[in-house]
Amino acid sequence: MEDIGRRIIDVLEGNEHNGVKLKEKRVIVAEDIFPSDMAMLDHDKILGIATEKGNIYSHAAIMAKSLGIPAVVGVKGLLHAANVKDQVIVDGTSGQIYLNPEKQVRDEYLRLEKEYTTRLKELEPLRDLPAVTSDGTRILLRANIGLLSDVRTAIANGAEGVGLYRTEFPYMARTTFPNRQEQAALYGKILEGFPNQPVNIRTLDIGGDKGLPYFSYPHEDNPFLGWRSIRVSLDEEEIFREQLAGILLAAPVGQATIMFPLISCLDEVRRIRAILDSVVEELCQQGHDVCSGLPLGIMVEVPAAVQIIDRLAAEVDYLSIGTNDLIQYMLAADRNNAKVKQYYEPYHPAVLHAIKRVADVGRQTGKKVSLCGEMAADPLYALLLVGMGIREFSLSAPSIPLVKQAIRSHSLRLCQAMARKVLAFDTACDIKRYLAIRRKKLFG
Ligand code: PEP
Ligand code: MG
Repeated sequence: MEDIGRRIIDVLEGNEHNGVKLKEKRVIVAEDIFPSDMAMLDHDKILGIATEKGNIYSHAAIMAKSLGIPAVVGVKGLLHAANVKDQVIVDGTSGQIYLNPEKQVRDEYLRLEKEYTTRLKELEPLRDLPAVTSDGTRILLRANIGLLSDVRTAIANGAEGVGLYRTEFPYMARTTFPNRQEQAALYGKILEGFPNQPVNIRTLDIGGDKGLPYFSYPHEDNPFLGWRSIRVSLDEEEIFREQLAGILLAAPVGQATIMFPLISCLDEVRRIRAILDSVVEELCQQGHDVCSGLPLGIMVEVPAAVQIIDRLAAEVDYLSIGTNDLIQYMLAADRNNAKVKQYYEPYHPAVLHAIKRVADVGRQTGKKVSLCGEMAADPLYALLLVGMGIREFSLSAPSIPLVKQAIRSHSLRLCQAMARKVLAFDTACDIKRYLAIRRKKLFG
């Protein structure tokens, strides 16, 4: 809402609305940064991002990560302290910001940057190798993408297709809703980028912190518990049909699969199927050669979906666990709110047991389960998830090489032993303590 409001004021004041124009490469320091800002900025000119508000799981931070832009969010007092022309170091790894650092600090960071670049170079030969554990279990590593420019980064990092294409991101940079042909053209370009690999297209997931400037949205006291995601699509059926038609028209270009976010009950899946069937029929009647059997998946990101996962699995082709939202809903902790970040705990036993349950049901029912939240970007966590039965991940592309290296250097047996141990703990504290020891042992 704030995003839309600000953009309306921009238009009323006659400000040119092309987002902030960066003439030179710069670090962006701001109170907050919205996903729509990220969609419109010239990414090649952003050296780093530092904001006063936000959390690492907010969508703008996720976008920065997938583009390989260092970002530190939720820095109290930042705007008061920073001035234009200050020199800034943005250390996205440790979450530290340095304003006008001393020469020694600058030199140290120049050294770290060099080391980091060398490390990335060393990982390059991994790009075309499969992610397989040392005892032979194959793991698929796909990319999370949003913008067309993510395709390049995904390929450069050896992604095996796209596990999550967030279709709302490209629409944030527009002034009107794209029609089916425009959508088909865009989806087609993404599919062309991965000629022999699947691209999992997720339907619009707006609401919460993601607005579209041309789509009027009601005021809500609790937007993350409100009218977002699939709920909007099912209520605004024309918009939904237009998007489904765009996906179906593009599908023959590559290996498209289609996924629906924020599913909380079986009725939604059945309504989606009925609408999809009717769009297929409409396109066929118009003479299009449309594929009617596109694999259909759902995101598991609401606790209710975990509770009825066996019933949901029976009616879809695959499941994808969205831990970014699943954590916030399981633990009642807003993923964007820095004030409750200690409650947003990926290592909470409730979260881990929920993931395990979905992985188990996937195995029992023969339905593929992938995990596409940010959790998988941490190599140690990825190993733990492999031990819990996950065999496919979708993550920010720049994180793929390190996760691949971790998988290739360790055995499934080790991952399973780690998972057994972790699932037996009672508290997140115990789990974190144990994993800290493992991290030191496995990664030094
Ligand atoms: C998630 O919720 O984990 C997810 C992958 O979707 P998004 O971050 O776009 O909400
Ligand atoms: Mg989500």
